[in-house]
Amino acid sequence: MPIYLAYQSVNGCERGKGGVPVRRRLALVDVTLACFLLLFVAALTACQRPPPEHHETLFVFGTLVEFTVLGVAPEKAAAAIRQVDERFQRMHREWHAWKPGGALVSLNAALANGETTTVDDFLLPLLEQSKRLYAQSDGLFNPAIGALIDLWGFHSDELPPGPPPQQEQIQALLDQHPGMDDLKIDGTQVSSATRVVQLDLGGFAKGYAMNDAITTLRAQGIENAIVNAGGDLCVAGRHDDRPWRIGVRHPQGWGVLAAIEVADGECVLTSGNYERYREHEGKRYAHILDPRTGWPVDHVASATVIHIDGGIADAAATALTVAGPADWQRIARQMGLEYVMLVDETGTVYMSPAMAGRVEFEGTIPERVVVGDGL
Ligand code: ADP
Ligand code: MG
Repeated sequence: MPIYLAYQSVNGCERGKGGVPVRRRLALVDVTLACFLLLFVAALTACQRPPPEHHETLFVFGTLVEFTVLGVAPEKAAAAIRQVDERFQRMHREWHAWKPGGALVSLNAALANGETTTVDDFLLPLLEQSKRLYAQSDGLFNPAIGALIDLWGFHSDELPPGPPPQQEQIQALLDQHPGMDDLKIDGTQVSSATRVVQLDLGGFAKGYAMNDAITTLRAQGIENAIVNAGGDLCVAGRHDDRPWRIGVRHPQGWGVLAAIEVADGECVLTSGNYERYREHEGKRYAHILDPRTGWPVDHVASATVIHIDGGIADAAATALTVAGPADWQRIARQMGLEYVMLVDETGTVYMSPAMAGRVEFEGTIPERVVVGDGL
């Protein structure tokens, strides 16, 4: 997952010289000069003070979400972040794949019973967008495989020890071909052609949420901010006089692989094998499944996508993790992506030319970098 590297820039003014000492006697008669000097001093002092930078961290979606907001009073920033937090809490509750009480769990129960049910407009756009992303990714991004994800034990805060599920259990679910094309959306009415469809938005919702947070902050008059959920992030505006600059974590180890400048409105999302997995007899089984085999992906270590739509970036990063070095360019093209980077288990980096133009490797340069043909 990427980590955020803050720039320490000072908005075109030099920092650290303290206030401007002005000790002048003003003739009471010369009010005009006094006013002029006061304004002049105020302007200089403002220039020497760094712009307000407000930091806050929330715990939601099982991770820490860090906010950095620039250029507004701390109270204004805090109030805007409270609004984001309310929406985040609602998303967490309503879109959770297994904790009871939310809209997605209710929808899944209805689908398992073969029922048609009404879905509210908070969840509906995610279903519609997920169907499109499923089609564009040739089903590699497949949020309809909730039953498989559950079979692997990933619908739990504590991942199960022990061997993977039996191949017959996996095959029994695969034989029923759960896919988003089974999901029928008619206005607000949702049903499924097959009862095996169980929705899990874990590969998509976080990016959607980061994007939504930026929209909420902008609506509150905040022009420059970064929202960073454990490395998955979206930005608004700039960091003072330069673009936001972030670091993509190296999938092997904890160092930074590369730095990327992120433009106003862009999101950077990374999916990785290394973040959440179960382990048995020294073998790791990651939480990203290949919907074609029902088994965890093990050929890619991480996939990073930059896109102005956080939900698309998140779903695409998941799909490209599944696609792997053999198929990433085709899937990226189909999904209309421009900025893509994959790192495989040997440390080889694959990038689209547009991404290669933006990535600056940090520390050890990867031994092998493959730049694709263009998307
Ligand atoms: P991360 O959560 O580490 O950012 P992803 O964005 O790839 O990684 O999301 C992984 C989650 O997506 C899994 O925990 C699971 O809920 C869901 N998932 C797993 N495999 C797929 C898949 N092939 N398509 C869609 N969602 C998936
Ligand atoms: Mg994802």
